[in-house]
Amino acid sequence: MSERPRVFVSRVVDFDLLASLEQVAEVRHNAADQALPRAALLEAVRDADALLCGPDRVDAALLAAAPSLRMVANCSVGYDNIDLAACTARGVWASNTPGVLTETTADMAFALLLAAARQLGPARDAARDGAWREFYYRGWLGRDLHDATLGIAGLGRIGTAVARRAHGFGMRILYHNRTPNVAAEAETGACWVSKDALLRTSDFLVLVMPLSPSTRGFIGAAELEAMKRDAVLVNIARGPVVDTASLTAALQARRIFGAALDVTDPEPLPADHPLYRLDNCFIAPHLGSATLRTRREMFRMAIDNIRAALRDELPPNCLNPDARRVGGGA
Ligand code: NAP
Repeated sequence: MSERPRVFVSRVVDFDLLASLEQVAEVRHNAADQALPRAALLEAVRDADALLCGPDRVDAALLAAAPSLRMVANCSVGYDNIDLAACTARGVWASNTPGVLTETTADMAFALLLAAARQLGPARDAARDGAWREFYYRGWLGRDLHDATLGIAGLGRIGTAVARRAHGFGMRILYHNRTPNVAAEAETGACWVSKDALLRTSDFLVLVMPLSPSTRGFIGAAELEAMKRDAVLVNIARGPVVDTASLTAALQARRIFGAALDVTDPEPLPADHPLYRLDNCFIAPHLGSATLRTRREMFRMAIDNIRAALRDELPPNCLNPDARRVGGGA
């Protein structure tokens, strides 16, 4: 009788769902509602066969610290925190959670668009702090979403859901991908344009692409310079898609109307970062998929991927199916 496989769960979303994993494995978990420090994570995975993780960094050092590891189930759709090549080389399957967070993340993109357009951050602070300024105060005059042009950089699953919402808001929709998304165009009326045209013509620009070598620094000083003076930038992708120093300088100089960021670089931003002091920058702590229902679905999906791997079956959302062959595993 072989030993039960060991699974370490770095973030628990739902203890009832965790019980379904306990039926098939010996499960240990991080009981705190926050990330484990790196050293504690490396210690925790020492004898683990599988890891269910949040945005923890899964790199060669972690893999080396976990010689029994056969599976990493990431509880997010983006997987830039995982060194996929290193996983494959060691015969470790990795999976993500595409699709189940699409609509929730698109909702958050709209929350950010509206927050930046109507300056809800400083407005809330002013109302609370006794600095109430009545609505004729010129500083409160925001931007309309209706009749405006929305640019979407990354018209994939989430980008398409953003476009669907934008259609309902009466916005004109432009987008830029490396490859035109014909199905999404037909569904939402979005029109493909070059990156340059997207920057120059968008009143609102939403970034919703994966972090990769081709998207790192997608928005820097030159791109901010090309944008309309009254444009609003929303980043719901990953922090490094925007160059933080350039964005800070552009917002300080009022080069664009404002920005709303669900993700930052670094993440979290240090408490004394100048972006926090700017009225024209709204920052949320990476809440894109953070609703109870969606996070449960993501957690359930990650568990399903681990359960498959523990049966030596290809996980349904496997990102590197070749891993077991290349890495010489089962
Ligand atoms: P997806 O369906 O794969 O869509 C990604 C889109 O980005 C595709 O249309 C792709 O088109 C485009 N793209 C990739 N590289 C590009 C480039 N260099 N230039 C222009 N377009 C590019 O992914 P998704 O499910 O929508 O998720 C997108 C990303 O959102 C995730 O990877 C994740 O990082 C982020 N996200 C963030 C949160 C949050 O909490 N803030 C939540 C969920 C997801 P082409 O390949 O044709 O270029």
